Amino acid sequence: MKAKVYITRKIPDEIVSKIEAVCEVRMWQEEEKPVPREVLEKEIADVDGLFCLLTESIDKELLDKAKDLKVISNMAVGYNNIDIAAAKEKGVRVTNTPGVLTETTADLTFALLMSTARRLVESTEYLKSGRWETWSPMQLAGQDIYGATLGIIGMGRIGEALARRAKGFNMNILYSNRSRKPVVEEELGVQYAEMDRLLQESDFVCIMTPYTAETKNLIGERELSLMKSTSILINTARGGIVNENALYHALRSGSIWAAGLDVFEQEPVPLDHPLLTLPNVVTLPHIGSASIKTRMRMAELAAENLILAIRNQTPKNIVV
Ligand code: NAP
Repeated sequence: MKAKVYITRKIPDEIVSKIEAVCEVRMWQEEEKPVPREVLEKEIADVDGLFCLLTESIDKELLDKAKDLKVISNMAVGYNNIDIAAAKEKGVRVTNTPGVLTETTADLTFALLMSTARRLVESTEYLKSGRWETWSPMQLAGQDIYGATLGIIGMGRIGEALARRAKGFNMNILYSNRSRKPVVEEELGVQYAEMDRLLQESDFVCIMTPYTAETKNLIGERELSLMKSTSILINTARGGIVNENALYHALRSGSIWAAGLDVFEQEPVPLDHPLLTLPNVVTLPHIGSASIKTRMRMAELAAENLILAIRNQTPKNIVV
């Protein structure tokens, strides 16, 4: 008898076919809408494998409904949507998709940095709304990127890829991380700094850590107050790492200059969220890894991990 798999969102046909070659597949058929919780609770009951996205909260309560579950394959590198301890306790393997999205996410992070610094979104709106009547010296003037200091918090795969891009802009790069990275320091010429120093000296602060109990609200009122009034915060990691209320006040009061955000504490971010009212915030709907090639690679890797675990073989990317 074939193993049973549930896929929580409509994914490309060729990926479904690969899984179908090995498993009996049921799939939520909507592309734009996440699977309702009650459907997921029903579907998880008898499956051997779950293919899910970061939009699904795989908590203990849900896991307790699963009777035969062997593997949860998350189509993301971050896995803060899964209760890892509960999965481990139940002997359920969890896999993710690191590596294949590194360069694409670094591209987006650098694009967000540039568009925030040079006010690209604001400038487009300025032009399209008919306010461009003349040219004046300080009109829509932003911050320089070339030669500025970039502080990277979380020097992992994406942090390193970001540093490589920043080198091309002759940026001075500081980083803080849980552990020091002598090889990266040597190879990329980046300098380790305690977080307070990094916040005080950087013109751009990019957050690139995972979202964990230790990084929740890592950047709050105190940390934002250390930043320069001309500096810019970029977050393409996870929303909960930054205290959004503190960020709103720092941006409103001018204690920092601007922010570029691809991620929010609650996603989709509510349209009445105070951060959306500020002109000095560039907001994106969590599109860090969203290139066609990379999303296909992520889906392929998630499918591969799922199939390997179902076959009792070792998946390529094991979280637990
Ligand atoms: P990674 O290679 O695991 O890098 C994470 C880095 O953060 C590691 O160097 C790690 O340090 C460091 N770190 C962990 N906890 C820390 C802490 N408490 N304080 C300081 N540093 C800490 O992960 P990655 O592939 O670069 O991805 C990073 C994160 O980006 C993901 O977890 C995900 O949430 C996010 N992401 C977002 C998007 C998007 O679409 N916006 C796309 C991809 C990824 P050690 O070296 O000591 O472990």
